[in-house]
Amino acid sequence: MPPPIHRSTTCPYAGRAPGEFSYARFSSPTVAAAEQALGALEGGEALLFASGSAAAAAILLALLEPGRTVALAEGAYYGTGVILDELSRWGLRHVEFDQAEAPPAADLVWLEAPSNPFLTMPSFESAAAHPARVVCDATASTPVHLRPLEHGCDLVLHSATKFLAGHDDALLGAVVCKHADDAARLREFRSRTGPVAAPDTAWLLLRGLATLEVRYARQSESAAAIAERLRRHPAVTTVRYPGFGGLLSFDVATADVAGRTETATRLIANATSLGGVSSKIESRSRWEGDRVPPGLLRLSVGLEDPEELWADLEQALAGA
Ligand code: PLP
Repeated sequence: MPPPIHRSTTCPYAGRAPGEFSYARFSSPTVAAAEQALGALEGGEALLFASGSAAAAAILLALLEPGRTVALAEGAYYGTGVILDELSRWGLRHVEFDQAEAPPAADLVWLEAPSNPFLTMPSFESAAAHPARVVCDATASTPVHLRPLEHGCDLVLHSATKFLAGHDDALLGAVVCKHADDAARLREFRSRTGPVAAPDTAWLLLRGLATLEVRYARQSESAAAIAERLRRHPAVTTVRYPGFGGLLSFDVATADVAGRTETATRLIANATSLGGVSSKIESRSRWEGDRVPPGLLRLSVGLEDPEELWADLEQALAGA
């Protein structure tokens, strides 16, 4: 049973001292309940943020200083590089590296498992041997498939907007910490600067977690079948699928063909985001420019009938 939603921003003091909950910017009962549930799934201490990007920015600002360097997995979510570019004005540097290899000298290593939209996986062994803290953005694998803290990572990042909440109706981020001192520092930073999740959104995460395992299993099964068929399709030159999860990408010949394909689907929405119950397709070059091949299409597979999804893709590719 989901708990009630506590929307109050303030709680009476117990005696004269603030109790566990006093003011919602620090925490509140529904946020704490959702953190407890996610922390149990990941095997660490979870903190919820207003978005995945707010969670990422909090890690960088709370745990690093000006002059520090982040080693960022090449081909990771483009928005992570955008945050790092933004913070370069504050003296944070970053270098990209191939996450299948050992990370270069850095003060923080940032992995993404699998990367969005290239679907590469990191070498956890090489990253764990690095002296710096290791963050793993596990948005597209979720704790159903991967628990990065068990593979030598110190922090897990989620855009919980995606698979964890799962219904395209909650903007939410999470950091799960292996070490109590990192969790305490992030909690202090979040309380001071204010990017905490809202109680209603935290409740939507609890609702999402209740069905995560079955959603993820079904999305993985459908995506694997679609990836296989795409590999045999004459109009498709490359398919990227790591063998699990509901996210894949594939290339068609040109940006024009990609544009005609994404606008010809009927069941699959031509929209951004991923991990929700309904399928979405989009050409990523509109956001990422020449960082991605011009014909790259990202597909997030939802819970629809996989035969209907394939029929939709087939007719869109045929007309493109
Ligand atoms: N990490 C990954 C892998 C993502 O795909 C996204 C968003 O697409 C984010 C982080 C950022 O999350 P949010 O949109 O919740 O800020």
